[in-house]
Formats: sequence, C-alpha cells, structure tokens
Amino acid sequence: MTSWPAEPPDPEQITPLRIIRTPAKGVFKSRIISPEIQGALTHYDGRRTIRCPGKDCPICGKHIMPRWYGYLALWCTRSNATALYEFPAGPFGTFREYIQKYSTLRGAILTAWRKPHRDNGPVFVELEPPGDPSADYPEPPIVMKVLCRMWGINYEAEQASIHKEKLEMIQQNTDPAPEDHISRDLGNNHDVLLMSTEKHKVKPKRKRKFQPDEPS
Ligand SMILES: [Zn+2]
Repeated sequence: MTSWPAEPPDPEQITPLRIIRTPAKGVFKSRIISPEIQGALTHYDGRRTIRCPGKDCPICGKHIMPRWYGYLALWCTRSNATALYEFPAGPFGTFREYIQKYSTLRGAILTAWRKPHRDNGPVFVELEPPGDPSADYPEPPIVMKVLCRMWGINYEAEQASIHKEKLEMIQQNTDPAPEDHISRDLGNNHDVLLMSTEKHKVKPKRKRKFQPDEPS
C-alpha cells in the first residue's frame, strides 16, 4: 500500500461508528438504514463486549454462555451521522414480524425503551414503516465489517471462514447420518436461540415521551 494515496481512505476506516444502546430512561427514536439485522454472539469480558469466536472460545470453555446481540445501522437525523444500534435477543420477534411484512428494515422508524427503567432492563421496540418509501436515506455501512474492525477481527478472513463453514454445512447435509447433523446444526444456528425469544414478545404500550433522535 502506498503512503501517498491520491484519495482519502474509506470513511469507515477513519471513524469507528458510535454504538447506541437503548437508554435506561425515556424513549429512543431513530431511522433504520440497514436492510437486515446483523447478529453476533458475544461475551462481556474486561468491562467490554467482545465477539465469541465459537470454536475453541476460552470463555465458553469456562462454561459462560455467549449472549446474542443484534446490530443495525441508524441514521441520526439531528447529527446527520450513521451509528450502530445494539439490541439484545428480547425484541427480535418484533423485527422478524416487520421483515416478514415489509421484507426490509430500511427506512423503518425505530422506537425503543426499557421496562423496568434500568440499564439492563428488558428492551422493547416498535417499528413504523417509512412515510415516504422512495425517500433517499444514506447508504448503510456493512455492519459486520464495522463490528470486525471494532473487535480487531480481520473481516476478509472472517468472510472466508463463514464461506468455508457454509460449504461444510452443505457437505454435512448430504451426509448419511441425520442425527449427527441435527446436533451440529444446532451448534451453528443462531435461529434456534432466536426462536426461543419469541415468548418475550410484548405488545408495546403507548410511548410515554417523544424523543426525536439519539439520547442526550
Ligand atoms: Zn465464547
């Protein structure tokens, strides 16, 4: 790589995106620009969230279960900046229902709150389709790329390993021992965990307070 590039690097390479979590108090409201959710299995270690590498994970090795988090790119209209929204598995069913109905999350208005109002209180979300479906929102970043950068993971190597895993899964599915691939698939398939979150679905109550953008 030259030290004298004619053009500045990709903005994603310069500024890491801000991670927004649902505030303990009040209602968070923003515009989703990602078409879909990027899920990740994580651990909380050394006072920060890190990615669980799955196979050979030293933390899983201590019988500490990884936690799933979903990530979406948001467009904060007030600051005209893109940020990442992080949410736990609880409200996943609301996102899935919305995607089933509208096929994409892009443009949806996200309203999120916690009840009870604690930092780790359960998160509830409400999604509204965009008023103007043809509105021109900023292009979303590749969320996995942003997360890889944040967690010090080589994105290209990660992509190659996901591709390899998929190929292995296809090979396993043509394997003549059915019970065996069921158990292996369970280990790899996050959807199993997600389906178990459906019972947490709660009909959202009316918003208490309108807050047009990110928490102050
Ligand atoms: Zn782990």
